[in-house]
Amino acid sequence: MLRVTEIFRSIQGESTHAGRPCTFVRLTGCPMRCVWCDSEYTFSGGEHFSIEEVMNRVRNFGCRLVEVTGGEPLAQKEAFRLIGRLCDDGFEVLIETGGFVSTEDVDPRAKIILDIKCPASGEEPRNHWPNLKRLRPELDEVKFVVANRGDWEFAQSIIERYDLTRCAKAVLISPAWGEIDLKALADWIAESGLEVRMQLQLHKYIWGPDARGV
Ligand code: SF4
Repeated sequence: MLRVTEIFRSIQGESTHAGRPCTFVRLTGCPMRCVWCDSEYTFSGGEHFSIEEVMNRVRNFGCRLVEVTGGEPLAQKEAFRLIGRLCDDGFEVLIETGGFVSTEDVDPRAKIILDIKCPASGEEPRNHWPNLKRLRPELDEVKFVVANRGDWEFAQSIIERYDLTRCAKAVLISPAWGEIDLKALADWIAESGLEVRMQLQLHKYIWGPDARGV
């Protein structure tokens, strides 16, 4: 059984898939505690679903794109089986992971969007660096949530050290909501000349920062 906070259909708000219709399976629970976390409501509660129950809900929404997210989706062992079942059914599957659980056993047909936690999150020491070696340039994306100048400098150093603009399909720079001046971040990115992509969380601009199920 899986512990599930919500399953819903919306548009994808982030990554190179932003704007596409997408079904989200948001699993319950996360052992991390990022300072700026916007999904603390997933830390507890949730309902138990079998994999088949999740599959039926996902099929009923009728989107080709499905994201498995959380919380931390890979913290539940059954999530790996769910990902495989979604891939078997022909869905295009995205995994949004906080980056501290190994991605080694994720079905290779799924596309990984891997967070790299910056210092202001408070969880930087828990980054699982071997995940970066498994990135596939045609499929996987990395995301840095940046809350201040120090985070941006950290992100630049990691991008250069691991050659991420070549190893990943996209390097996403996402401002921590309400924490950083967007124009300043845009300037830093433009000045750097790095082949990264600043992204805003579309769903928060459309429905507001506290809306759930969107
Ligand atoms: S990893 Fe994600 S869900 Fe977990 S605390 Fe950090 S931001 Fe929140």
